Amino acid sequence: MITLQGKGVSAGIASGVVVFLKRKSLSVEKRPVADVEKEVERFEAARRIASEQLDELSKKMAGTIGEENAVLFEVHRMLLEDVDYTEPITAIIKNEKVCAEYAVNTTGSRLAQEFADMDDEYMKARAVDMYDVSKRVIGILSGVEDDLTRSDEPVILAADDFTPSETAQLDRGKALALVSRQGSANSHTAIFARTMGIPAIIGFGAFLSGDLSGKQAVLDGETGALYIEPDQETIQTLEQKKEALRQEKECLEKLRGKPTLTKAGRRMKLYANIGSVGDVESVLAGDAEGIGLFRSEFLYLGRDSYPDEEYQYQCYRRVLEKMGDRQVIIRTLDIGADKQVDYLNLPKEENPALGIRAIRLCLNRPELFKTQLRAIYRASLYGNAAIMFPMISSLDELLRAKEAARAVREALAAHSVPFKRDVPIGIMIETPASAIISDILAKEADFFSLGTNDLTQYTLAVDRQNEAAAEFCDTHHEAVLRLIRMTCENAHKAGIWAGICGQLGADPTLTKTFVEMGLDELSVEPSGILKLRNLITQC
Ligand code: PEP
Ligand code: MG
Repeated sequence: MITLQGKGVSAGIASGVVVFLKRKSLSVEKRPVADVEKEVERFEAARRIASEQLDELSKKMAGTIGEENAVLFEVHRMLLEDVDYTEPITAIIKNEKVCAEYAVNTTGSRLAQEFADMDDEYMKARAVDMYDVSKRVIGILSGVEDDLTRSDEPVILAADDFTPSETAQLDRGKALALVSRQGSANSHTAIFARTMGIPAIIGFGAFLSGDLSGKQAVLDGETGALYIEPDQETIQTLEQKKEALRQEKECLEKLRGKPTLTKAGRRMKLYANIGSVGDVESVLAGDAEGIGLFRSEFLYLGRDSYPDEEYQYQCYRRVLEKMGDRQVIIRTLDIGADKQVDYLNLPKEENPALGIRAIRLCLNRPELFKTQLRAIYRASLYGNAAIMFPMISSLDELLRAKEAARAVREALAAHSVPFKRDVPIGIMIETPASAIISDILAKEADFFSLGTNDLTQYTLAVDRQNEAAAEFCDTHHEAVLRLIRMTCENAHKAGIWAGICGQLGADPTLTKTFVEMGLDELSVEPSGILKLRNLITQC
């Protein structure tokens, strides 16, 4: 037995024969052409056919992968119409007097690389869409039909990578699972696999070689393990897990679309945490009732310069639009401590977790803060947004942050920029100070969300980053639980709601305690929603 370890992106157990996807090679040679005008016409004709195909695909696939996901083919169609795509293609044909296949391939590859080099995970994942679109056009130009080689028997499909078109058009009865050398968890391939319930593992690298074709295998899409020629014991263990998962899924699916009600009939909100625009797909697939924590700092991380107002506005708008009338709580920039970016030139601090981070940084740099607030307010028109300030530890900080928001509203109004005036403003309770004065803060906030990761760190004086101190980080410590209870009681006395968006919210051993405390909301990983709803109904 050989065990290969990849990254599980769609849970589930599958066993069968591995078959490498054979694609008919597409002609991309640099063929000279005499009549460039005719060649441009040939490209235009192929583009029209591709556009019609995508239109049909979008309608057809809505039933399989849901309208929400089928929109991707609309996006592909828009890429085809984009002048940034069509103009360079036409220019290459005309200037270099070469065939359309070559021009499409060169331009598609360049644009795909530009997407791949972007910092934003969502944009990065669009590289494969660019590749997919160009492959379609080249296929039409060269008369090569897409060929997903499938045997008559269902198989585990392996490939370097799968394009979204390939994944979406897979015959569900034939593809037991997908395994690939490359890929990203945010890619549409991964999203479609999850939506279609096909187990998928990506990122095996060169270990996933063509020699494995034809071999018997079993895999676990949750752990990311692929066992080639598995022994009897492994088969049996995974078969048992498969049956347990099947039973659990059947039970959980009954709760999809249902409100989250405690045993006593009290309604709770079950929200999800996200870090990027791309995560919204999982939020919807996971059946979350809203987004309880959008860690907006992820828009700032891993880049060389500030994300500008327009970029942020587009990101927030996309999330809000996708979520419709479900609430989206956008946490303002929580940078500093473990989250560092060079372009902010943050001074070196002895104890950065106790230094200029989160709201403190924003209050020190009003322009940085106001740029983000402007982007959020402008995007607020497109859904049900809320703003949340992190790391508040005093009333003064909250009042200053609210003043910044008020100033932004005034400025937008003065310039006749449309926005929603009544966006709720809440705060994270993640310092002992804020929990202790939560009665005072509650008078100035629309809601509380307990950041138990930091609340635990600061209450127990245990650095959350320090592995060596992990044994002293008792997340069930009575001090932490008392602060949560106190915060919840003070919120209710002031008539506002309180929830948890830290890791503790997903701890199944505390669900009953949280229900008894009267918490109104829990915000967890998107994949944990149905499980938690199930638990809450029993508490
Ligand atoms: C928390 O501190 O619990 C929290 C949700 O915020 P973060 O983990 O991003 O610091
Ligand atoms: Mg925190």
